[in-house]
Amino acid sequence: QVPVPSDIEIAKAQTPKQIKTVADELGLFESEFDLYGEYKAKVSLSVINRLKNYKNGKYVLVAGITPTPLGEGKSTTVVGLVQALAAHLNKKAIACVRQPSQGPTFGVKGGAAGGGYSQIIPMEEFNLHLTGDIHAVAAANNLLAAAIDTRIFHESTQSDAALFRRLTTVKGNKREFAPVMLKRLAKLGINKTNPLDLTPEEITKFARLDIDPETITWRRVVDTNDRYLREITIGQNDTEKGITRKTGYDIAVASEVMAILALTTSLKDMRERLGNIVVAQSKAGEPITCDDLGVGGALAVLMKEAIKPNLMQTLEGTPVFVHAGPFANIAHGNSSILADKIALKLVGTKNPEEEEGYVITEAGFGADIGMEKFFNIKCRNSGLVPNAVVIVATVRAIKLHGGASPVSAGQPLPEEYNTENLEFVQKGMCNTIKHIQNAKSYGVKVILAINKFTTDTEAEIEVIRKMALEAGCDEVALTNNWAEGGKGAVELANAVIKACEGENNEFKYLYDLEAPIVEKIETIAKKTYGASAVELSDVAKAKIEQYTKLGYDKLPVCMAKTHLSFTDNPLIKGAPTGFTLPIRDIRASVGAGFIYPIVGTMQTMPGLPTRPCYYDIDIDTESSEIYGLF
Ligand code: ADP
Repeated sequence: QVPVPSDIEIAKAQTPKQIKTVADELGLFESEFDLYGEYKAKVSLSVINRLKNYKNGKYVLVAGITPTPLGEGKSTTVVGLVQALAAHLNKKAIACVRQPSQGPTFGVKGGAAGGGYSQIIPMEEFNLHLTGDIHAVAAANNLLAAAIDTRIFHESTQSDAALFRRLTTVKGNKREFAPVMLKRLAKLGINKTNPLDLTPEEITKFARLDIDPETITWRRVVDTNDRYLREITIGQNDTEKGITRKTGYDIAVASEVMAILALTTSLKDMRERLGNIVVAQSKAGEPITCDDLGVGGALAVLMKEAIKPNLMQTLEGTPVFVHAGPFANIAHGNSSILADKIALKLVGTKNPEEEEGYVITEAGFGADIGMEKFFNIKCRNSGLVPNAVVIVATVRAIKLHGGASPVSAGQPLPEEYNTENLEFVQKGMCNTIKHIQNAKSYGVKVILAINKFTTDTEAEIEVIRKMALEAGCDEVALTNNWAEGGKGAVELANAVIKACEGENNEFKYLYDLEAPIVEKIETIAKKTYGASAVELSDVAKAKIEQYTKLGYDKLPVCMAKTHLSFTDNPLIKGAPTGFTLPIRDIRASVGAGFIYPIVGTMQTMPGLPTRPCYYDIDIDTESSEIYGLF
């Protein structure tokens, strides 16, 4: 067998199509996309309206079993599956994936364009900057951060009357309120539009947000793994008159703005969500929003291009939407609703005789996190009903769940992973089976994709196939697209086509939004993870009470938990039952529209390892070729 070259060698050996050609093939009008160079385009949201009478194509989610720290090939499978459908079986098919953060690209994991002969190209552009969406997210996030501290500064140094004068706008010889300020007046119950009509009490009420600095939850972001920014003190220059504050940075993809980009359904909706972001409380305990600070409109302006999905292609020239990349632990870890919606229309049908196509979208992490959030947060926001779920498994991850030695990134795999071991496989199937059963409980068809590695044996694969089918999995397919491209995923593509036949009328969510917060958390912990109880810290209990009073209790729940185990302990493998899930804290992303209970420790700013990926990355200064990305 010929060895498979490195990802970047494969990607470079293929000349991509002009993206204009890909757009034409999708039936996009020239007015509906903007070119960003030769191989990337942004697609206008107006497509959804133009094709509003089309029936959506089939909607398929790719999720994974609880992975090893190496990743089990979800992205590789997504790409291979659309290559098989579109380039080998002549179906309409679009992949929808997340944009990778530059944190992992230069840190431990490397790029995220898929792998082997199933990649998104040009992989350098995919992994670096793309069309600047993450930069826009950071710009919007940090404008809001600046607005908060500046407001505290101005309020502390000015009288009510002076503040009020400066917060209003002078037009000619008239004083008026900026439109965003009228919103704040309405919220305060002041039904006046002329600044001169306000009473002194109303002036104070309007002019002072009275932010309690201790309650500020909004942090600054940057898209670099920079551990030294985890905790910082701001305001140390003399010009800030001693108003210092401890705060910190998160990685840009962990920001609420990124979660909003992924969950929004229109420009209007994005504007509202940005305005509704709650950043702190006033000293009286009232939530302070982005629109209270007058900055919601400016954030929407910064995000105006980022809201449009990016069109790219696979190694086999089939279309891919790359859009949004919310962190999978504190946010929901799924690509954007808008990309899925546009894609579903583009592969949809105008009349019943036509054959619909397929949209393949990916959920990050293991299915206990990514898939659960896909159904209960993403689908709830979009109203879309999925037809089928593909669960990606590897022999190596199954062996890990069956008791094989631990695996770590950058280290050679222990011997039991390179030789046949049916006992580890049999024992470890409990994890895959639990994910299959979880997926089935949503009323969708479930397909297990076994992502083939060269060390897997036929007997090991047979054990997996048999046990998955016995557990109620609808289809099982072996995929070899990493080594062969789309051809290696034809069995999977045929299984997906079969699973998507007919309508899906059985789909249901896991929990009711109306249920109390505790009940929602318990349902996820018990039904999805296998826990027997949930233990709330005092902080978590107090937050539940507070959020319930504020009316955030009707929001869906976005669990922040390790992806390496069904439990809160990444070292516990398999599918344990009877454990107690500890909830340390609960936070709210009111703009994005979820609350997130924190299970165990959680890192929102990763660090760089001793031996980072950037050692390998450089540029040929003659040809401008990049090398060392993978
Ligand atoms: P995930 O999306 O689940 O994190 P990826 O698709 O990014 O996983 O794959 C993780 C890594 O494993 C990538 O470097 C990819 O090239 C590699 N990989 C995936 N499938 C295979 C395979 N069948 N054989 C060898 N390497 C693979």
